[in-house]
Amino acid sequence: MVKVYFDQDADISILRDKTIAIIGYGNQGRAQALNMRDSGLKQIIVGNIKDASWDMAIADGFKVYPIAEAVKKADIIFMLIPDEVHQEVFERDIKPNLKDGSTLNFAHGYSIAFGYVKPPKNIDVIMVAPRMIGKGVRESYLNGTGFPSFIGVEQDYSKKAKETALAIAKAIGSTKYGVFECSFYEEAVIDIFHEQAAVGSAVHLFKACLEVLTEAGFDPELSVMEFYASQETALTFKAVGEIGLFRALKVGSETAQFGIMTRGPRLVPDTIKDGLRAVLDDITSGRFAKEWTLEQMSGRPFFNMWWKKALAHPINEAEDRLFKDLKRERLKWKE
Ligand code: NDP
Repeated sequence: MVKVYFDQDADISILRDKTIAIIGYGNQGRAQALNMRDSGLKQIIVGNIKDASWDMAIADGFKVYPIAEAVKKADIIFMLIPDEVHQEVFERDIKPNLKDGSTLNFAHGYSIAFGYVKPPKNIDVIMVAPRMIGKGVRESYLNGTGFPSFIGVEQDYSKKAKETALAIAKAIGSTKYGVFECSFYEEAVIDIFHEQAAVGSAVHLFKACLEVLTEAGFDPELSVMEFYASQETALTFKAVGEIGLFRALKVGSETAQFGIMTRGPRLVPDTIKDGLRAVLDDITSGRFAKEWTLEQMSGRPFFNMWWKKALAHPINEAEDRLFKDLKRERLKWKE
């Protein structure tokens, strides 16, 4: 049985005299830094490259340093730069500046699980991995609901690593919801499998559905509205999160339920599990991580080609027309 921890299991006061360096003031970095400061922690500094995030951290009132300098000043280092650059930045700026007994905290198990970061033995290595985008980390702290995280300990040099992970989880607002204990490997595999198997197949399934409707002469704008712009699908899955995978289907009509029961299995027969097992095996064997590393080293040829093709797909024009017809600004996320 998985272990779940809440506010009463964690003590923020153990962090009060520690200097915490947020390395990477991006999606997670900004949200976690602001939440911890609002939780009463005063010694938070930021380590970043000189970019817009550096300026934002200063505007938010934090002291900002080049990464190597921030690590030198810190007792606890939050690794909140993109996973793709962990290895390079860790070897160059972080590892040479770590103090004996300091703590390295990850928001995703990837770099440790697949061997990209090899920390020295004389530090604690922990994970507090939000199951939430940065925007949600901040918003759910402010509205008081909190958000779930997976926490784990890879190295326990101090024999207090778990207490530190729990204290951090409380300071960023996660124990309010509940945090789940697991290994870096479990977190990394489940997270990536979800991205690839669930989100990956859903995006390509939606694309195929819209193509079939358009080819049959149905209006693409109406199809985009029905499939995701109305957010009915998002709300259905919100209900799944709140009620359960099957029980949530009862929020829809019985006609919908009958269609789901009879047509869904035709599209997703049990044989799909062979493909899913192959995707899982690519992850657990480290083949996916290796492929992604090689892709980056060779200038991302497939990645860039895929994006070029995706953005040239007629779905984008239908979406543009829809937003224009609705006289709505498209929300700006990260482009
Ligand atoms: P971001 O993409 O927001 O990047 C964070 C910061 O790192 C930015 O300031 C970025 O600069 C900077 N950066 C980019 N490249 C380099 C580099 N080569 N050297 C130094 N700094 C660099 O990261 P996220 O917040 O999305 O992810 C951080 C960690 O959190 C990852 O481990 C991720 O897996 C984990 N995580 C992320 C979640 C999310 O919602 N995004 C959810 C849960 C965990 P610039 O803006 O200029 O590129």
